Parts: sequence; structure tokens; C-alpha cells
Amino acid sequence: MGTILIVAEIQKGVIREASFELAAFAQKLAGSGHEVKSLVVGQGVKGLAEEFAQRGGGEVLVAEAEALANYSADAFTQATLAAVAASGADLVLISNTPSGWDFAPRVAAALDAAFVTDCFDVSDEGGAIGFKRRIFNGKLDAQVKATGTVVATVQPGATPAFEGSTEGKTTDLDAGIGECKTKFVEIKIAESKGVDLTKADVIVSGGRGLGAPEKFTEVVQPLADALGGAMGASRPVVDAGWLPHEYQVGSSGQVVTPKLYIAVGISGAIQHLVGMKGSNFIVAINKDPDAPIFEVADVGVVADLFDIVPALTAAVTAAKG
Ligand SMILES: Cc1cc2nc3c(=O)[nH]c(=O)nc-3n(C[C@H](O)[C@H](O)[C@H](O)COP(=O)(O)OP(=O)(O)OC[C@H]3O[C@@H](n4cnc5c(N)ncnc54)[C@H](O)[C@@H]3O)c2cc1C
Repeated sequence: MGTILIVAEIQKGVIREASFELAAFAQKLAGSGHEVKSLVVGQGVKGLAEEFAQRGGGEVLVAEAEALANYSADAFTQATLAAVAASGADLVLISNTPSGWDFAPRVAAALDAAFVTDCFDVSDEGGAIGFKRRIFNGKLDAQVKATGTVVATVQPGATPAFEGSTEGKTTDLDAGIGECKTKFVEIKIAESKGVDLTKADVIVSGGRGLGAPEKFTEVVQPLADALGGAMGASRPVVDAGWLPHEYQVGSSGQVVTPKLYIAVGISGAIQHLVGMKGSNFIVAINKDPDAPIFEVADVGVVADLFDIVPALTAAVTAAKG
């Protein structure tokens, strides 16, 4: 039986939903006798720490310092290491968010700990902690057992947030932040090109299966237009520069809940699913019958998208007269 340290994350003045998902993971292990502690860092964050203590965080260590007011890899790593020393934690849980994947490896390296990334489930395996993580684009689930000191990152959206109330308390932690090689300069909000997928009733998203950027204007956009909807995309499409980031659906893009979501040539990796699985009705078009996207689809079409999508566009256009 060990001690778990959750590193909570604050975004836009509130604790991120992903941190309550870490609390759900930790509380699951608490059922097997593990003690749950947490770390909240920032400035003026006592109130948030108290909230977290009552929502699954256990004893919440609060590290307040000017260097922690905004994210910096150095300062957050130092604060986490101080919290590990103060709590005696042997399992550190960090969200697999952009800041999480920046400082979690530094914490693991400094602790010489086992490092398990992008998990979606956790269990006590009697002397080891078991983790589940998706591999090969979501086609296989790997089971990993780790012993000793472990740092794990957890995929946001992969597990429901902790809903109950718990008895916790807050304790001040002097993280003793020393010299930092990186420092916060400013936050720049990316300029939006006018696409707001969160407001669209219908989204037709294209993935790597489209094969080339021009196929979005030739194949995906006409169907989106015929349905009066918007066009979306998976991350590789955005990474390749085929479409700007505001089109990206998924854990590092937009979370959308349209009435109708049509996934075209998208495999259904967990990072994409967490961005669209709350859609009211999901249609998936993929030539691979084993594509994981079909697990969340209300209607699945196993076919070549270049046959189906133009035919669908023509049918919708004809039906509208
Ligand atoms: C930290 C992290 C964050 C991430 N965030 C996101 C995110 O926000 N959003 C996101 O989407 N991904 C994200 N990813 C990437 C994710 O893991 C997958 O790599 C990605 O979603 C795969 O995109 P895809 O489905 O378009 O491509 P692929 O997985 O390559 O799938 C292409 C699909 O097209 C099908 N296909 C090919 N040709 C045809 C055809 N002619 N007709 C029909 N079907 C065809 C194939 O069968 C295949 O299933 C993230 C990954 C990490 C590690």
C-alpha cells in the first residue's frame, strides 16, 4: 500500500476537469488501501485546493510562489519533487495535457522512476500498479505493470471525473523553488480564422484516409456544405498543415457535441474519440472493418470513402431539391 500524489492543473482560474479524472483514478486505488494526496500550485489558489480536497484530492499540499503563478517546466518540476519528498508518494499521477507531457518526464527522470504515459485505466495488482494504455492507433490495449516509484500520465477524457465528496484537508508546502532556467513570458491566444466547431450542429471530419489536402475541398467540404455543417479534421491532417488547428477535433483540439458527426477516413484513436464521442449521432466511414471508430458509431459504413462520400453528397443535394 503506497501513497499517491495527484498533480492538479489549474486553467483559466479553475481546476481542470482532467484533474478530477486523476482523482477518480486515485480514489479507485484508495479502495485497495492506498493513501491519496495532491499538489495544487499557483498563487492565490487556496480556495481551489480546498475544493479539490473535498472532491477526491485527499490531503492537498498547496505550493504558492511567484514562480508558480504561470506554468514553467522548471518550477512545476521542482514543486512536484518537493511534494513527493513531503508526502512520501510512490505513485505520481499527472494529466497527459501539453504542460503535463512537458514536465512529467522531468519528474520521472529526477526520481529515477518508472514512467508510464497516456494511460486510460489503473488497478492494484498486489505489489505492482497495473496500467492500461492504447497502442497501435487504438487497435490494441497494452497492460503495463510497474513497481517501485512510478510516474504516470493519464489521457484526459478517458475516464469519468470523480463525482463524490471526500474528506480532505489542505497543508501549505514550501516548495523552495530555486533557480529556473525557463521563465514565463506571456500567453498568446491563437488567432481564430472564424471556424467554431463547438457551435456546429453537423460536422463532417476528415482524417489521414483522405490522403491529400485537396481532397478536403473536393470530398469533405461538399458534404459538409450539403448538410449545412462545418468541416473538422483529425490531428495528423492539422500536423501536416492541410488545415489550421481550429479544425482539429480531439484531446489536443476541440471537444465537440454536434447533433450529427460524420467521421471520414478516421481510425478512431482515443485522442480523437474523446473529442467527439459525446456527439448525438455518429456516422463512421472507413474501409477497415476493425477500425476503432466503429465502436462509438451509431452507423458504420465499411467502404472506400471516395465512393461513398460523393454519392452521399449527391443524395443529400438531390433530396433538398
Ligand atoms: C498527446 C496526443 C494528443 C493527440 N491529440 C489528438 C487530437 O486532438 N485529435 C486527433 O484526431 N488525434 C490526436 N492524436 C493523434 C491520434 O493518436 C491518432 O494518431 C490520430 O487521431 C489518427 O488520425 P487519423 O484517424 O486521421 O489517421 P489514421 O489513424 O492513419 O487513420 C486513417 C484511417 O483512414 C482509413 N482509410 C484510409 N483510406 C481510406 C479510404 N479510401 N476509405 C475509407 N477509409 C480509409 C484507414 O482505414 C484508417 O482507419 C493525439 C496523439 C497524442 C499522442
